[in-house]
Amino acid sequence: MSDRFVVVGAGTMGLGIAYVAAGAGHAVEVVEVDPARGTAALTRLGELWDRAVGRGKLTADEAAANRERVTLRAALADVAEGPDVVVEAVPERLDLKRAVLRDAEALIPTLLGSNTSSIPIGELAAGLERPDRFLGLHFFNPVWAMALLEIVVGPATAEETTAAAVALAGRLGKDPVVVRDMPGFATSRLGVTLGLEAIRMVADGVASPADIDKAMVLGYRHPVGPLELTDLVGLDVRLDIARTLQAAYGDRFAPPPLLEEMVAAGRLGKKSGRGFYTWTDGVRS
Ligand code: NAD
Repeated sequence: MSDRFVVVGAGTMGLGIAYVAAGAGHAVEVVEVDPARGTAALTRLGELWDRAVGRGKLTADEAAANRERVTLRAALADVAEGPDVVVEAVPERLDLKRAVLRDAEALIPTLLGSNTSSIPIGELAAGLERPDRFLGLHFFNPVWAMALLEIVVGPATAEETTAAAVALAGRLGKDPVVVRDMPGFATSRLGVTLGLEAIRMVADGVASPADIDKAMVLGYRHPVGPLELTDLVGLDVRLDIARTLQAAYGDRFAPPPLLEEMVAAGRLGKKSGRGFYTWTDGVRS
């Protein structure tokens, strides 16, 4: 089955979701308000498909077909009614997400999902006319490499919506977990805890970022250390999540001052070239 798939936001996650959906044969419309980011996302998608061809994972014809399935739109109003799936992947801000979700709902999608990392689905659903069709579709970064899809069932989500999301995960080649609607769900709550503590350890001078990461990779068999992961996710994204979790659970999730300072200085991680590490052409140095 081929879906009409809409992704809202062409940032780190939106482009990854578009890549996977197009690769699974779906027609994908990517809605991005910032024209420069929209164009950059299409360029990056092209590079990713070129790389897949170079590595022998796709033929040139398959890559070209994937590319043709993706269309860039400047606004949700430019998308025709009745898509099968809409995934919202705009920044982690409640007011912005609510507004985008209301506009997305006007298209009458069969399934409406948010890629939020931490905001309760019940809060995002306020103002929706069909909250029964809405849930969390939490993809992981980089979407093409990460098998997990965390499906978050909101208080009003219908059983058939959850079942449809599990089936969608299968069509996208993802392995789902279904979790209850609590801030931070299962993954962000634990992952951010580790990341924030690692940042406090840098501030305390316990060890260099590289050694703190190495300790977790070699000592605990984590595939990536918590500081490098923070660079990959984006320090601004992690700061937004920490604030959301602080509001929900208290000061154990208070963002460390070092994180606030780095974000204010534009050190956002891989996407800005500097975070806890320096990144050149997407490679850590
Ligand atoms: P990002 O800042 O890289 O991208 C967000 C994009 O949304 C930007 O390009 C922005 O211009 C666009 N945008 C803003 N308002 C818009 C609107 N009204 N319509 C269309 N586009 C709009 O953010 P991201 O890292 O891709 O994160 C997006 C969401 O995914 C957040 O909720 C985040 O918490 C979640 N998430 C992020 C990661 C990660 O590793 N970065 C992992 C899982 C989930």
